[in-house]
Amino acid sequence: MKSHDPLVVPLPDGGVYLRRREDLWSSPELEGLDAFLVTASIHHRYLCGFSGSSAHLVLTRDGARFLTDGRYSEQSAHEVHEADIVIADGPLRHSLGDHLEGWWKVGFEAGRLTIADLKLLEESCPGITWVPVIDCMERLRAVKDEHEIASLRGAAAIACSVLARVASGVEPGQSEREIAGELEGNLRKLGSEGSAFEPIVVSGPGSSRPHGKATDRVIEEGKCLTIDFGAILNGYHSDLTRTFVPGAPVDEFSQWQVVLDEAIQAALAAMEPGTPCQELDRAARAVIDAAGFGEYFVHNLGHGVGLEVHEGPHLSRTSAEGLAVGMVFTIEPGIYVPGRGGMRIEEDVLMTEEGPELLTRFPRSLALPERNDGDNC
Ligand code: ZN
Ligand code: ZN
Repeated sequence: MKSHDPLVVPLPDGGVYLRRREDLWSSPELEGLDAFLVTASIHHRYLCGFSGSSAHLVLTRDGARFLTDGRYSEQSAHEVHEADIVIADGPLRHSLGDHLEGWWKVGFEAGRLTIADLKLLEESCPGITWVPVIDCMERLRAVKDEHEIASLRGAAAIACSVLARVASGVEPGQSEREIAGELEGNLRKLGSEGSAFEPIVVSGPGSSRPHGKATDRVIEEGKCLTIDFGAILNGYHSDLTRTFVPGAPVDEFSQWQVVLDEAIQAALAAMEPGTPCQELDRAARAVIDAAGFGEYFVHNLGHGVGLEVHEGPHLSRTSAEGLAVGMVFTIEPGIYVPGRGGMRIEEDVLMTEEGPELLTRFPRSLALPERNDGDNC
């Protein structure tokens, strides 16, 4: 992919949104509800295509009403599928009552609404019983459809191209913060909608902090340099980590790299539809334990990626959730030794009928890549 040829993945048509809403209404949590109020922006995108903020989507079993304000009238006319669009001239919550008339039991996204917002809803819509709906959207979203998979595949490819370009230009003496800036700039240049999150660039002793912030520390030969960042395409996030050791190989770090690579292989080998997520964590952790680094792997194996950079499924030590075809998630084993450094390798994986497929395709070597134009992914 060249910078002048950005990756384009077509957006879904109206039928896709209707299918997602059908799946939603077949969830047990929505049984007995007259309507469901969707307040989270990412769920507006998921259920009707709107990518802005400041809106409400009111779903019933046979229709949808989309409320927004004048700032979004043009955008909503262009983006919103299969819903009646209402442009409110006052605060949205005040006009909401008019659009909920005739309904008694209305669900709301309990994990996405503040207590203050709920109070406002109760005041502006007298007569309605508000029913908290918990994690229903999140569970639906954990399994991706083909449109989502195409966007996630694209977001992973952009991240790989950006890393190839940025890492090949890293020089000892450059600061972590400069590298973070290079990542952010190149994400935009290579077609990402922005940074999936603030890039983590940590080096030397700072690399033993899994989620450390980029500082003015300069890159040194023979020390770890961990880069963790991601791209966004059509609202979908990728999440990619590599640790490099600039200069000549260092035996200790080469050993860590072999252990982490084997941990990833073990997790991939354990992936089958239905496998409980905790089994994947266990498989990877067993390799790290056996190598004597168990106490230095201080986080869970991975997490789902999608409209959010951290979502279901949760690949933790305790998650009994089963892997399903269509899930997209990270595996990211790490070794962090305070005072020595840290190393993490993170891949994005799609679960298919045939087994796991890596969406991130980037060498796991500790050597910085050769200079190129970002085309090796
Ligand atoms: Zn990451
Ligand atoms: Zn991650």
